[in-house]
Order: sequence, then C-alpha cells, then structure tokens
Amino acid sequence: LVDQSYKRINEVEDKVEAFLTLDEEKARSYAKQLDEAIGTKDQFGLLFGMPIGIKDNIVTKGLRTTCASKILDNFDPIYDATVVQKLQQAESVTIGKLNMDEFAMGSSTENSGFKVTKNPWNTSYVPGGSSGGSAVAVAAGEVPFSLGSDTGGSVRQPASFCGVVGLKPTYGRVSRYGLVAFASSLDIIGPITNSVEDNAYLLQAIAGVDPMDGTSANVEVPDYLSALTGDVKGLKIAVPSEYLGEGVSEEVKQSVLSGLKVLEGQGATWEEVSLPHSKYAVATYYLLSSSEASANLSRFDGVRYGYRTDNASNLLELYKQSRSEGFGDEVKRRIMLGTFALSSGYYDAYYKKAQKVRTLIKKDFEDVFEKYDVIIGPTTPTPAFKVGEKISDPLTMYANDILTIPMNLAGVPAISVPCGLSTEGLPLGLQIIGKHFDESTIYRVAHTFE
Ligand code: GLN
Repeated sequence: LVDQSYKRINEVEDKVEAFLTLDEEKARSYAKQLDEAIGTKDQFGLLFGMPIGIKDNIVTKGLRTTCASKILDNFDPIYDATVVQKLQQAESVTIGKLNMDEFAMGSSTENSGFKVTKNPWNTSYVPGGSSGGSAVAVAAGEVPFSLGSDTGGSVRQPASFCGVVGLKPTYGRVSRYGLVAFASSLDIIGPITNSVEDNAYLLQAIAGVDPMDGTSANVEVPDYLSALTGDVKGLKIAVPSEYLGEGVSEEVKQSVLSGLKVLEGQGATWEEVSLPHSKYAVATYYLLSSSEASANLSRFDGVRYGYRTDNASNLLELYKQSRSEGFGDEVKRRIMLGTFALSSGYYDAYYKKAQKVRTLIKKDFEDVFEKYDVIIGPTTPTPAFKVGEKISDPLTMYANDILTIPMNLAGVPAISVPCGLSTEGLPLGLQIIGKHFDESTIYRVAHTFE
C-alpha cells in the first residue's frame, strides 16, 4: 500500500500539488517493519499498514511542520500531536504533510505560503480550504486517509469540492494537543476519506479524552462501525430554510432535495425548520476566530522558533520585522481585525457582542435537536470556484463559509458526503449535522448514500 501511495504521488503530484513534505524513507522502512511483523503477532492496529497524510498544522516529531507559513519554514517539532501518537498505536503509516491555507485561514488553499493545490477533478478549480491538500490527496488517490482541521468548515468544504467524505467531529471529541492553534474555541481535527466506513475507522482511531487537552471531552467513544447499519427508518430530519435560500445555487439545492428523496425512500421523514440566527454566523465567526487568532499567533515572535529577520537592530524591530516578513497577507488581515476587536473601547461592542450572538446560534441548534435527529443541508452554496476567482476579494471568500461556520460556533458535529455532480462535472456535497457527541447517527445517515 505504501509503494502504491508513493507511485501515485509520483504520477500526479506535479499536477495537484497536495503535499508540502514527504517522509518516504521513514514510511518505507516502517512499512517493511510492519510487513515483517505480520507472521509474528495476532493483534493488529486498527489502521494496520494504512497510508495516511497529515495536514501541516498538526505537529509531527522531527518531521517539518510549517502550517504553510514562511514563518515556520524550517520548523521541526520536538513532539507528536496526540492524534499522531494515536495513529502510531493504530499502526498507520505517515506518508507526508499536506498543503493548506496559511495557519488554516482561507477557503481555497490559495493562501498557502508555498504553493497552490489544485482540484483533481479539474485543475483550473480550487480544491477548497483550508485543508485543501488533505482533501486532494485522498481524491487524487495519493493516500486513502488524511487528517484535516476544521475551524469554520476547513474539513467539510474541501471534502465537498473534491468529492470525498469529511467529518468535523464534536468540539472536544478529538484532542487538539499538537494542533497549531488558530481559534482554540472552534478548532477540531477531522478525518477525510473516500468512504463513510473508512471515515468511521479513522475517527475511531483518533477520538477520546486526552489529559494534555483540557478542552477534550470525557465522553465515552462508541463503536462507530456498528452504527453503519443502513437503517434510517423513522429518522426525523430537519431542513433549515436558511440553508436552501438566497445565495445557494439551484443545482446545489436540487442535489440536496434528491438526497432527501433517497432518505425518504428508506423510511425517514423531513420537515423544513428555521435557524433564525444563521444570518449572523459569518460576521460572528470572523470576529471571534480573528480575536482568538490574534492572541494565538503572538507566539510567533522570531525569538522562540521559526523565521527570524536579518534586518533588525533592536528587540522591537526584531519582532516587527520577523512577523512582517514571515506572515502572509491574509494572516496579517486577521491579526489586525482580531487585535482591533479585542482592544479596550471596542471589546464590548465587537467581541462581547459576538459571544452573545454565538450563544443564540447555539440555541437555534438546541431547539431544533429537541424534535429532530439530524439536520441536513448543502455543505457549500456553490461547487468549487476557479483558481484566482475570489482571492482578491476577502469578503466574497468569507461568504463561501456561510453553511459550515454555524456548526463550529455551536460545537456540533457535521459531515460532508458526495451528492452528485454539477453541470460542469464538479462534485457537490451534502452536509449532515448531528447532536453533540452523536457522530454515530451522522455516520448511519451518511452510510445510506454509499
Ligand atoms: N474558511 C474559514 C476561514 O478562513 C475556515 C477555515 C478553517 O476552518 N480553518 O477562517
């Protein structure tokens, strides 16, 4: 499998550019070691011998981890993220580190400090972001498994654009220890795979409470594979009118309605509901996530690690110049926005207000989940857009996240599964949203599409 993985990477990597760093020598020798162990043991890891790619904001001991930022160009972490340790226990083989928008800020992978990853369905189109490399590596057949991170849609949106399965677990379901923080109250690591079954395997391997992450939840991890029963009889589905309204393209709407028909045919029922505060989600998210990012990214100061300028004659200049030269434009935009929103005099008007709206958005979900098992809608308002199309207009780019952001604000889990093709032959995604810690029901519903 590992041979196959590198063979495919050699064939397609120059066209799609999903990887930032490959770990070929180590991967091959570990695979050999696993091969040799086959006859000698009777217990195998859950992902024994499975090639996996890891988003470059998840730290890997001794393996370059850049967050696709020049400021971390030559950063070799001294420890493994908890998810990486768990993958080692599962005996999967790390193939390399995957491209992304710098510090996970973006929706197209065009904000990478190193290269632009392309959509394998049509290389003139973006793969989505920020986990573009993670979705592409799976969609292009370079690896069967990958990990992404999702702060406002970064696993689900690229999965949708690339025709693969991507899950944002419940906030706290997977440890964030070793995930370079963007917005700590929203960040979560999520699995990207070709099938729902593979996705359940990967979540099984990485989920669970972690003493190294105080926000990881002490909630029992169920057997996700046993949820894949194919039975959705009696399931109650809510479809928010806001998710099929203005700005959502007709073909996206039709693909969701056809998905709902499939579920109806199997004995589920659906009704239209309202999530009235949805319209405030994008503004709320960009205020809160940028505020948290401005604090989290203060650690990149040119002193402790990463890039350091040669053009400074005192300490203040060293900070300023290292950050000016090391960070890209989008990252600087967020730091400025966040610093402004948190500054005294503006804090109550922006940050505090946004926190209050976040509570209302969360309550919208709680109200709906009192009566329904899952919520269904599109993952994105449109299929993938062209490389270069939105990059010079940040607000249009931000608006693209309107259907994925509310779940991060509410902390609920959500999956994107492929649901047909657009007229241009690009994948469309259907999003299934569940109650807190109820990934099993999401998987059960998603599985019926396979
Ligand atoms: N596109 C969103 C942003 O730019 C979400 C990114 C993410 O989920 N990491 O912030």
